[in-house]
Amino acid sequence: MAFLQLQGIGKIYVSEGNVAVGIRGVDLSFERGEFVAITGRSGSGKSTLLNVISGMDTYEEGELLIEGQPTSHYRQADWEIYREKYVSFVFQDYNIIDSYTVLENVELALLNIPDPRERRRRAIELIERVGLKAHLHHKGSKLSGGQKQRTVIARALAKDSPIILADEPTGNLDAETSREIIALLREVSRDKLLIVVTHNFEQVEEYATRHVRIFDGAVEADQIVAEPEPVAEEELPSPVPETKRKAVRSDRFGNGVLLGATIFKATPKLSAFLCFLLLVGTIAVSLVTSLTGSAWDLFDPHLMFRHIPGRAVVVTRTGDPVTGAEMNALAAEFGANKAVRYDYLYDQSYNFWDWDYDLDFDYVISENGTRTPKIGRAPETVTEAHLYLPISAAPLFGKKEIKDTTFTVQLASWDYTFSVDLTVTGVTYFYNNTKKAEVLLSDEGFRFLSACALLSSQSLSVRYELVDGTGEVLFTPTWSRDLIVTVDPDLPSGTMILPSPIVNTAHQIRAGAADPATVTERFTAIGTKYGSGSSVNWAYPLDGYRAVAGDGDRDGKLIVSPDLFTTVTEGVEDGLYKQVSLFFASDAAAKSAIEGINGKGYLAVLSSTTYSPDPSEIIVSTVLFVLSAAFWLFALLFFAFFVSLCCGRSIDAFRGDMSIMRSMGIPVRVIRIGMYVRMLLSLIPAYLLSGVAVFFIFRTPALNRLFRFPDPWQFVLITVGIVALALLSTRRQIRRLFKTSVKTALRGGDAA
Ligand code: ADP
Ligand code: MG
Repeated sequence: MAFLQLQGIGKIYVSEGNVAVGIRGVDLSFERGEFVAITGRSGSGKSTLLNVISGMDTYEEGELLIEGQPTSHYRQADWEIYREKYVSFVFQDYNIIDSYTVLENVELALLNIPDPRERRRRAIELIERVGLKAHLHHKGSKLSGGQKQRTVIARALAKDSPIILADEPTGNLDAETSREIIALLREVSRDKLLIVVTHNFEQVEEYATRHVRIFDGAVEADQIVAEPEPVAEEELPSPVPETKRKAVRSDRFGNGVLLGATIFKATPKLSAFLCFLLLVGTIAVSLVTSLTGSAWDLFDPHLMFRHIPGRAVVVTRTGDPVTGAEMNALAAEFGANKAVRYDYLYDQSYNFWDWDYDLDFDYVISENGTRTPKIGRAPETVTEAHLYLPISAAPLFGKKEIKDTTFTVQLASWDYTFSVDLTVTGVTYFYNNTKKAEVLLSDEGFRFLSACALLSSQSLSVRYELVDGTGEVLFTPTWSRDLIVTVDPDLPSGTMILPSPIVNTAHQIRAGAADPATVTERFTAIGTKYGSGSSVNWAYPLDGYRAVAGDGDRDGKLIVSPDLFTTVTEGVEDGLYKQVSLFFASDAAAKSAIEGINGKGYLAVLSSTTYSPDPSEIIVSTVLFVLSAAFWLFALLFFAFFVSLCCGRSIDAFRGDMSIMRSMGIPVRVIRIGMYVRMLLSLIPAYLLSGVAVFFIFRTPALNRLFRFPDPWQFVLITVGIVALALLSTRRQIRRLFKTSVKTALRGGDAA
């Protein structure tokens, strides 16, 4: 049984309107240890013959037997196994990968050695053997023709395949180098079958054991010119059983990863460009996401109230206000932690902007609760505040020195603006721009500000009277019966300052009274509640409050202490404000309490209750969303276009290398994995750099202000999208790559 046997092999090339005979009726048998020289005129079919033997080209007629096994039924995968196991190829134009070093080129042929260190050791050994030790780390492109051919031979040795095929290996070399290469080929193939195609028989005459002449696709002559060296039987590898073949192959995932890393490293410019592209893409997509961020609000629930865990909102079914007494009774009965009579502020959102710092953010107002500020202390007095702000607001207060800074809250209604200067006692910055800023007050402060907010849409005045011991009114300012109220946060609790003309007159009357000791001041709060076309006046006695000395003439108003102001408002329970909030330990606790409260004739709901928005609102936000999504998709596609453009170029550059790899029998799967790995590796810098960018955006207020951050889930979406995009474009590349056969690609891509 011959080692390699060709029986009537024929190969016909059919192209458009043209049939060319490659080879026909070739009967040849080869044994290991032979050095076969094939000669013939150009176009006679030498290369075709070699390609058929190498399994890179198919044959249409006859049968090729390897170790007695027929191959005519082989499919691509079988030929891959065949090539990997049996054949090493040496071409005229040196099929080494130019971007790889000598070492990498040789290691590529050693993928079946799993241990990388062992692989390296063996590669270096082989490189030494072909005399290239000094060029270990030189790239293929930097080598001379002879050195390239030596590298190829080292690679052939690495594979240790029983057949070495060389198609005019010295065609591009000078005479001296040619001799060396032929000698080297002979030396390394003593126990192998070496077939060399040459048009210069003299060059190989010294070593050849057989001379086959091809003419017009057929064997013209076949002569034994020397006795081949016998190959010791034990040197022959035992034929590998068909089922075990897979096991000896280099078809492993790890090899794909290794290959990917090598490709990435070997083409630094391309890799850098790919990294850059992916980085730009990642940034662009993130930017678009952050610009179109508000469009996603479409999916936010439409809350009736601000949702605070454990908060329940209570109103009566009759439309009457829930009075303070009722509220306290409900709170006691259902175990609420806290009851808020005027919960108006919870559901308001205010806007802050500062020209100097180019700041513009929305905030809500709450009481401090249990939160402790990162900087400073919690608010204690009525007009102190702890600010919970986006980091972009940091320049406003600085990082440490917050003492004596103020924050002005403007509670505006359609006819009244109420400004309250709050002293900042603490600041906590947060790094997520999708969260809302908060002004956190003391409980007292919250009540005060609620009063301010409520009264900003009411009219509030206070009546002043001087009465004697019998209750008779001695004095009421006639020229201004009621005094418009304003607040001075520094006034002691329970006090007010009257305008000085009133104080002076009152003083005179008091002095002239029959019994001055019994003369007292009496204050009454007067309010007007407007509603549905009519207005209702209310009055509330402010017993126990007193006037103190001071310049009460500021704006001609009655100046009151904050607590008094709050009391005035809260005392007025009839018709001013209807709803109250009760706070429970959690939403779940609130839920069960709500059932009980509803059972008592009230209407109570969780603060997380949603409503369905107006149809027109839905239409507007849907249109906004569709536009944003289109913009987003456009950015992604634009990016995809660039990535595939770049990859397309890299494909053309890679096609030759890939053909070389395939001709060496590196499995398609390994190359595929390699390409995916290369793409993923290119993504790493993009993600590292965007990570750094995110960090700086978080940390730098100016940047933080500029970019609204995507929600975490949007960020995940971007990441997944870009990875998917990169993998998809790799898949496309691979498709394109493997469309052309190995042989065609090796010939430079001409499919003719
Ligand atoms: P050699 O290597 O001896 O110069 P080849 O084996 O390259 O000859 O070519 C043998 C014949 O087959 C030539 O007539 C050539 O034109 C033809 N041939 C080779 N490759 C192709 C191909 N891919 N398509 C069509 N004809 C081809
Ligand atoms: Mg040829």
